[in-house]
Amino acid sequence: MTDDDVLIIGAGLAGLVTAATLTARGRHVTILEQEPRASLGGQAFWSFGGLFLVDSPEQRRLGVKDSADLAFSDWLGSAQFAPGADRGHGPDRWGYAWAERFVDFAARDMRTWLHALGVRWFPLVQWAERGGHPAGGHGNTVPRFHVTWGTGPGILEPFVRAAVDAHRAGLLDIRFRHRVTGLVTTDGTVTGVRAEVLAPDDAGRGEPSGRSVVREVALGARAVVVATGGIGANHELVRASWPATAGRLPATMLSGVPDSSDGEMLARAAAAGAALVHTDRMWHYPEGVEMHTPVWRRHGIRILPGPSSLWLDADGNRLPHPLYPGFDALGALRHVTSRGDDHSWFVLNRTIMEKEFALSGSDQNPDLTGKDVRLLLERVRKGAVGPVARFADESPEFVWAPTVTELAAGMNALTGEQRIDAAALARLVALRDAQVTSGLGKDPQVVATARAREYVVDKVIRVAPPRPLTTPEDGPLLAVRLRVLTRKTLGGLHTDTSARVLRPDGDVLAGLYAVGEAAGFGGGGVHGERALEGTFLGGCLFSGRTAGEAIG
Ligand SMILES: Cc1cc2nc3c(=O)[nH]c(=O)nc-3n(C[C@H](O)[C@H](O)[C@H](O)COP(=O)(O)OP(=O)(O)OC[C@H]3O[C@@H](n4cnc5c(N)ncnc54)[C@H](O)[C@@H]3O)c2cc1C
Repeated sequence: MTDDDVLIIGAGLAGLVTAATLTARGRHVTILEQEPRASLGGQAFWSFGGLFLVDSPEQRRLGVKDSADLAFSDWLGSAQFAPGADRGHGPDRWGYAWAERFVDFAARDMRTWLHALGVRWFPLVQWAERGGHPAGGHGNTVPRFHVTWGTGPGILEPFVRAAVDAHRAGLLDIRFRHRVTGLVTTDGTVTGVRAEVLAPDDAGRGEPSGRSVVREVALGARAVVVATGGIGANHELVRASWPATAGRLPATMLSGVPDSSDGEMLARAAAAGAALVHTDRMWHYPEGVEMHTPVWRRHGIRILPGPSSLWLDADGNRLPHPLYPGFDALGALRHVTSRGDDHSWFVLNRTIMEKEFALSGSDQNPDLTGKDVRLLLERVRKGAVGPVARFADESPEFVWAPTVTELAAGMNALTGEQRIDAAALARLVALRDAQVTSGLGKDPQVVATARAREYVVDKVIRVAPPRPLTTPEDGPLLAVRLRVLTRKTLGGLHTDTSARVLRPDGDVLAGLYAVGEAAGFGGGGVHGERALEGTFLGGCLFSGRTAGEAIG
């Protein structure tokens, strides 16, 4: 390589999109990636491939009325940016500016661009993060989660193809097993990197790989792009970064990301003069279950729940309004951590599980990932889809029982504590069931669940008919112990709207760019406090393309 090249650190989605944008303009690019070739694409390969798209043809076909204005209003309600952000002031000014641009991208260019690259979507748009807060608060007013046909690998495909083509054209070199340990600066400008060349490793995709160093190298470049992802696998850093105002994260958590999401590059960039912002903003999930066949350390899977299950804390109390399954993930997580608990519970029955439980990730959705229409039809038939059925049969976290009393005993047996009182649980279930049988009801969860069935997709594949939990033909009863699952980093390297990294004083740190999760998906925090889902892959696409165009 020559000093004219652009160096990208990280071969995840954000790094690959940046590379594709640059090589399409005839630029020479080198990507340095610490993992072996098998892990090309990073987290995006494992992702569900859900994209936040606004006013799409898929939405319109389902009768969903969306607009860029409505989406931006929802975004602001979720972000709760600091005052002054809209006038270009304060710690959220760049996050706000990125949010404006990103929502516009999601409403216009993103779908057209990806469609031209061959990407397609499952026609049934899902309703993630329903919010349940008053207008102006967190949540999606309408369904916007568009699952890519082929899930995560389907999003990656055009950018992997572009990388292969650029490599053949002599424009792109990807050096695997190169772990960047520092940035080189010359007169205040980033001019290259220092890296360790790691010993070859035959770890499969997503598996932890060794860290023995063969030699060290220094590489120069006219621009360096940090595309190293978030901190989700680094539980010590996650715990240290968790805001004190939200209690404490449990001593034992599951990882929803491979070990490569170690977050170490962020501190190295800061050591070279880069500003980090909003490091206490994260997007982890309270609905994790341990993976039966782990690929990475502490491997967990997130249950994507429909709205009908009762959500109880470790002492069997119902979570407060509007913390219902699928409404406000961070709100529910903060409720758990504020209590100092290490788990919570879904209480439901077999019918609700079969209709409402989905699992996040490409590996847990073989029908959509494999573009297998026959398998896909399982979603509308009676019974759980295969991957959910496997957890139901094999996971010790799934407690089955014919009666509420036996369910409470099973829950206590699993934790080894006596925190669930059988009589109190029976009372909760009876109160909820009386609301359902009334046909109308005042309980906000029961009302919201009935209303959700007015959306055709929810009615067909996502929300069970409202019936008492104790209906014999829907049984047996089920309680699922839910763990905290780490995933996304909402803060990161502070960038301007050209993806240039800033110094703590707000000036540009010349020569350095940041994209994807390492940059808080744009601006060091495009989401603000909370996310609307499907915005992470989109944030990688948008920030990668922005950086590629800005470097030119
Ligand atoms: C199971 C799962 C489901 C998901 N589902 C969705 C979804 O439906 N919708 C959505 O929007 N988002 C989803 N996400 C989130 C989304 O996939 C990620 O936020 C996104 O892919 C991050 O991409 P990235 O390129 O920024 O980082 P990564 O994919 O983490 O890539 C970073 C790369 O940098 C490398 N690296 C790190 N440090 C160094 C170093 N020092 N030197 C060299 N290389 C380094 C890493 O090895 C890695 O390959 C999901 C994630 C997971 C895991």
